[in-house]
Amino acid sequence: MNNNFDIGIIGAGPAGYTYALHASAQGKSVVLFEKKQIGGVCLNKGCIPTKSILHSSEVYKQILNAEKFGVTTQNVTLDYSKVLERKNKTVETLRKGIELALKNAKVTVINSEAKIKDKNTIVECNADIYNCSKIVCSTGSSPKIIKGLEFDHEFLLSSDDILNLASLPKSILIVGSGAIGVEWARIFNNFGVETTVVELASHLLPLADAEVSKRLERIFKTEKIKFFTQTCVKEINNKKITLSNDEILQPEMVLVAVGRTPNITDKIDGVTYIGDVTGEIQLAHYAIKQAIEDIDGIKFEKGLTPSVVYGTPEIAWVGKREQDLEPDSYKKSLVLLSAIGKAHCDGQTDGLIKILSQNGKIVGAHIVSSEASSLIQQITIAIQNGITVDKLKEVCFPHPTYSEGIYDALFKL
Ligand SMILES: Cc1cc2nc3c(=O)[nH]c(=O)nc-3n(C[C@H](O)[C@H](O)[C@H](O)COP(=O)(O)OP(=O)(O)OC[C@H]3O[C@@H](n4cnc5c(N)ncnc54)[C@H](O)[C@@H]3O)c2cc1C
Repeated sequence: MNNNFDIGIIGAGPAGYTYALHASAQGKSVVLFEKKQIGGVCLNKGCIPTKSILHSSEVYKQILNAEKFGVTTQNVTLDYSKVLERKNKTVETLRKGIELALKNAKVTVINSEAKIKDKNTIVECNADIYNCSKIVCSTGSSPKIIKGLEFDHEFLLSSDDILNLASLPKSILIVGSGAIGVEWARIFNNFGVETTVVELASHLLPLADAEVSKRLERIFKTEKIKFFTQTCVKEINNKKITLSNDEILQPEMVLVAVGRTPNITDKIDGVTYIGDVTGEIQLAHYAIKQAIEDIDGIKFEKGLTPSVVYGTPEIAWVGKREQDLEPDSYKKSLVLLSAIGKAHCDGQTDGLIKILSQNGKIVGAHIVSSEASSLIQQITIAIQNGITVDKLKEVCFPHPTYSEGIYDALFKL
């Protein structure tokens, strides 16, 4: 085989496979190394499998609450093995799609571990050498390990372990209330698992706007998800957990979701690093944008990377948080979902749409609502293109939709 390529990529997650497909579309010869499965964490251990399980949990909960909507159900049962079966099928279908796209694009895929020797040489684990005009490292990240909470994969679980539980536990403690911790808290709670969250920061979802964090805490209380903030695990003794506030818990298992560590040792000059491995914003869409920026030269504003936390209701934000802005330097508009017709129709009235503006332009938006993951994109487009609040008021928003909350908010800025 000819081992000379224009581009050599290590890691076939969203960053790596996007780079490969776009480079190939430009007529470049590409070799892509993947030691596990095409699709990376996003497809195999992250975004997609969690959203599939989350959806099953939401269907289950909705059916249990169906009477509220005038629908009577009886003998509702949950077969968790089928939930996993569906998750696996979803992942496989999507993986096959990416594999086919790579094949059609004539990307050479090598299913093995690879190492970068220098800025133009990749060594595959069988010692085969690949010469590449350019090397891209997109090796991603792994669950962060913290002292005292090292994964034993039975009691102390990582976000990888939790995906394949043979059955649901009766109770769980989740350490960390970032996007992953909150998402799993909602999944377990929907399935009826007694769920407790422990967070070291003063609020849940510490990276969110403070008002959003508080709203989530209110929702957790309504949903009966127990949580402790400004708290950490002090001691674990024979599966008995003592928290720093001296609370004692005996959950059946613990999910440790305290962040992710980039899969990197030393950076090599002349190599391009993209995605989670950079340790910047560890989101799939950020990884994809970094790939496209480098290969296609399409710039993007990193500060306008939307964040989404899945579950009911979704939480999404973009741009500045209120706590980032100088007092009196901005205008704030808050629309409660209880003022939105569609929210009442859907029985989803606990939420808010908050928009922040400066000098007639939106600088940040924070949404706790059904469809927040899509709503946030409207605002992202507006901010990125400098569309003024007055200009946005000229846009027609359909009724009844959650997007009307955005429209209403404009008139309070
Ligand atoms: C539970 C969970 C839920 C998530 N949900 C979301 C979400 O909803 N939305 C979102 O945007 N993001 C989400 N993320 C984050 C998202 O998965 C990552 O940001 C994304 O996968 C990063 O893509 P990447 O290509 O940089 O790296 P990865 O997806 O980590 O891919 C890196 C790949 O490189 C391979 N590799 C590593 N070293 C080598 C080597 N030496 N040789 C060959 N191959 C190698 C790995 O096997 C892996 O397949 C979630 C993450 C988790 C854990």
